[in-house]
Amino acid sequence: MKNLVVGAGFSGATIARKIAEELNQKVTVIDTKSHIAGNAYDYRDHNGIMIHKYGSHIFHTNLDNVWAFISRFASFNTYMHRVVAVIDGIETTIPFNLRTLYNVFPESMAQRMEEKLLQHFEYNKKVPILEFQKQDDADLKFLAQYVYEKIFLHYTTKQWGVSPNEVDGAVTARVPVYISCDDRYFQDKYQGIPFAGYGKTVENMLDHPNIEVRLNTKFSDYKEDYDRLFYTGPIDEFFDYKFGELPYRSVNFKLEELDMPYYQCNSVVNYPCNYDFTRIHEYKHYLNDLCEKTVIAKEYSEFFERGKNERYYPIPNEANAALYQQYLSEAKALKNVYFLGRLGDYKYYDMDKAIARALELFEEIK
Ligand code: FAD
Ligand code: UDP
Repeated sequence: MKNLVVGAGFSGATIARKIAEELNQKVTVIDTKSHIAGNAYDYRDHNGIMIHKYGSHIFHTNLDNVWAFISRFASFNTYMHRVVAVIDGIETTIPFNLRTLYNVFPESMAQRMEEKLLQHFEYNKKVPILEFQKQDDADLKFLAQYVYEKIFLHYTTKQWGVSPNEVDGAVTARVPVYISCDDRYFQDKYQGIPFAGYGKTVENMLDHPNIEVRLNTKFSDYKEDYDRLFYTGPIDEFFDYKFGELPYRSVNFKLEELDMPYYQCNSVVNYPCNYDFTRIHEYKHYLNDLCEKTVIAKEYSEFFERGKNERYYPIPNEANAALYQQYLSEAKALKNVYFLGRLGDYKYYDMDKAIARALELFEEIK
């Protein structure tokens, strides 16, 4: 069987590797870009700093099978991600946690809030902001309003173009209020950055005698025969937008090279209430790249427009889910054509979930 995989990101590379290795079948992987690894692509710049071209990527998962799979192709450091947010000029870690209380409030007030939080919620509980707002206690009501306004309201409006109430609850629930002293961004069992980079990781995944990779190749320009298609590109594009276009948010990263060893204290600093950008990335923190200069990227969000920018974030809401379902019904009617990945499934997958989905699909088709 000749397999064609459209897209050389984590989804495409995972399904290609499994087919090549376990079914011993030929796989051609094409990508319209000039590089592999999709949105996770990284490269070392002329200073030797590993730049995440499409924004900071931190690998984190609780899935043993995904960790076992990716560990065959990469060795990871033990980096555990923390995000600093500047709130009223104070640097503190988010998700908002018990430590944050002591950074932003006077001690006696922080203590009172902490006691109340521990009375109302179990230790270690993650409370989505939209749920956290439903409080009776006056202090906790104040706290909920504070967190909503200082962390979520303006950031979400910058990121999604609408207020947090209009965004699917699952999106803001990614950064819950955390009743814990653990100030890490993720609590997953496995976390880290691949020492050699994500580009190299995907290169290793695709390095198999049964796999051929062709870059700068768009699916619509691919004219050769194949028996089975795995499509990780946008599902609406595949069907020529017959039901309308699935909307996405896009991001514009403005890179600056600065003549100083470090610009900020952390890899990512969020500015929920200030400026037009949402956050600043400083990439050299991830692999502890040592050099005199540094590179930062200011992240600006915007709507995706075909021909102007790239698709980054599917926008989860009811209308878009209904539109996606129309495409899915068409997709199900096709034989030997499978859709997967952030663009193919129109889902806000992290890297581990994209890999998990490809591994599951392989089990189904094998
Ligand atoms: P993609 O990486 O988008 O790959 C799809 C590929 O298909 C692309 O290379 C594209 O060029 C190609 N393609 C599309 N259409 C065609 C066509 N018609 N013909 C040929 N090729 C085509 N995940 C984490 O786990 N941790 C993080 O910290 C994290 N940070 C993120 C930050 C940002 C700003 C974004 C946007 C995402 C982040 N993610 C993170 C998610 C991560 O990027 C995705 O989970 C992962 O890249 C999904 O891989 P994929 O292969 O499904 O899609
Ligand atoms: N969010 C916020 N303020 C922050 C960080 C996150 O309002 O300081 C909200 C925002 O809506 C964002 C969502 O939480 O889109 C998820 O954040 P995450 O950092 O997981 O997004 P990603 O890294 O995928 O861009």
